[in-house]
Amino acid sequence: MKSWTLRFEPGEGPAWMAGREATVFAELGAEPAGKRVACCEMKTSVAEEGGLLKCAFDVRAALEVLRTESYRLPAKPVTRFLPFHYHHIPGGVRIKIGQALEALQKQEFPRWPIDPSGDALRWLLGERGGRWPNGKSFALVLSHDVDTAKGMKLSRKLLEIEAKHGVPAVYSFVSATYAIDKPFLRDVIAAGGEIAWHSDLHDNRIAFEDEADIRRRIDAARPFLDEFDVRGFRSPSLCRTPLLLRIAGERFSWDSSVPDTGPGGGCATVQPWRIGKMLEVPLTLPMDADLVFRRQKPVAWAGAWLDKARFVREVGGAAVLCTHPEPHFSGSAPAWAAYDDFLKRIKDLDPWICVPRGIDARFKEAA
Ligand SMILES: [Zn+2]
Repeated sequence: MKSWTLRFEPGEGPAWMAGREATVFAELGAEPAGKRVACCEMKTSVAEEGGLLKCAFDVRAALEVLRTESYRLPAKPVTRFLPFHYHHIPGGVRIKIGQALEALQKQEFPRWPIDPSGDALRWLLGERGGRWPNGKSFALVLSHDVDTAKGMKLSRKLLEIEAKHGVPAVYSFVSATYAIDKPFLRDVIAAGGEIAWHSDLHDNRIAFEDEADIRRRIDAARPFLDEFDVRGFRSPSLCRTPLLLRIAGERFSWDSSVPDTGPGGGCATVQPWRIGKMLEVPLTLPMDADLVFRRQKPVAWAGAWLDKARFVREVGGAAVLCTHPEPHFSGSAPAWAAYDDFLKRIKDLDPWICVPRGIDARFKEAA
C-alpha cells in the first residue's frame, strides 16, 4: 500500500510531533486553502482556515488502515510449521534465532520504539487524550505473559515486586499446556490484578485458523475463563488477524495483541480504541523479548521503558508493558532489578496504574 510522510510546520501540531513525522496510507488530494499546518514534501496536506483544520486526505480512513494494520500482510511465524511445539527448542537457542532474525529485519514502518503516525491522525480528528481519572495524564498497565511451566513457577517473583510497590498487574495464562497454579491466580486477583487468556496451546496457530476452529478453541477454555472471570485476551507471540480479533470480541471485553510498533507491524497509536464492543489496548512499551532480540541488557530496560512512557504521557495514552516470567526473558535477577527500578521511577511520572478492565470501564463511562 502506498504511503507518504506528513510533517507539521514549525509551531503547528502537537508539541510531541516536533521533530517527528507521520506515515499516512491514503490518497493525497488537492491542496486545501488556508494557512499551512502540515505538508507532504512541498505540498500542503493540512491547512487551517477560520479555526478549522482542512485535510487533503481522508484522516479517519487513514487511521483505520493503521488500527487494522491493513497496510501489511499478517506475519505468519515459521514456528507454525514445526512438527513439534516450538517451546521444545531451548529458550537460549530461540533467543539466538530471534536475534539473528531481528538483525535481518529492515522494517521501515512503524518506526521503533516510537511511531506517532496514528496519534498524529487522532490529533487531526480532534481526539486529544484526557480520558484518565483523577487528573492523571496517562495510564500504565503492567502485564505478564506466562508461556510455560517454568514461567508459572517464577511468576510469584514478579507479584512480590509489584506488592512491594503496591501496584496491580494482569497475568495471561496458557490454559491447556501446563498446570495452572490456582492459588497464585487468586493472589493476583486479591492484589487488585486481573487474569487474561494467552490461548490454549501457545502454538502460534490460533490467528490463522478458520472461524469455527477459533470459536472451538475459545469454547474449550471456558471452564478456565469462567473460574477466573477472564475478560481479556492476548494472542501468543502477538499473532493476530482481523478475523481473530473479531471472534475474540464475542467472548472477551478487551484484547491486547496489537503493538503500537513491533516486529511485523503495529497500529502506531498509544491510545486504546474499540473493535466492535471489544476494547483494543495496544502494547506500547518495548516488550522484554524485543529488547532481548535487540541485544539490550536488562540494565538498560528501565531507561527504555521510561523513555517511551514519557512519550505516552505527552500524548495522553496508555503505557502497556508486557514481560515474561520465563528465565530467558524476565525470570532472572538482573531482569527483576530492572522491573523493580522501573516501578520505583515510573511513579515520578504520576500515571494511573490500572488493569485493562479498568480502562474498559473508564472508556465506557467516558463514551
Ligand atoms: Zn506468549
